[in-house]
Amino acid sequence: MSACIFCRIAAGEIPSAVVHEDDVCVAFRDIEPRAPVHILIVPRRHVASLADLTAEDVVLAGHLQLTAARLAAAEGLGGTGYRVVVNTGDDGGQTVPHLHVHLLGGRHLGWPPG
Ligand code: 5GP
Ligand code: ZN
Repeated sequence: MSACIFCRIAAGEIPSAVVHEDDVCVAFRDIEPRAPVHILIVPRRHVASLADLTAEDVVLAGHLQLTAARLAAAEGLGGTGYRVVVNTGDDGGQTVPHLHVHLLGGRHLGWPPG
């Protein structure tokens, strides 16, 4: 059994509010939402961070981004807008070492981030 929490969520070993799944990725609601809509999109395959992707992962990277855009539309965010974020490493604020794309929306999001 994997020790990685997002691998375990993707495998269905830990319950989560799944909103989408396919062969490549799983999307579920963040347990500590920072906005009315806060969804995490994670690859089924364990990849530690964005910095670990290689040229062979171009399709995976695009799939995660496109899934975020489709979920944003499905959540009704198409008209008001939203943010897609990949926190990477310590300075990026990454706390879970399994690549994940945050989809945030449903309120105005400040810029620059903290
Ligand atoms: P990071 O800080 O690494 O960019 O984002 C990790 C995110 O994962 C945080 O927003 C945190 O709330 C979320 N998270 C951590 N553990 C769990 C969990 O067990 N279930 C869910 N649904 N979200 C989690
Ligand atoms: Zn993992």
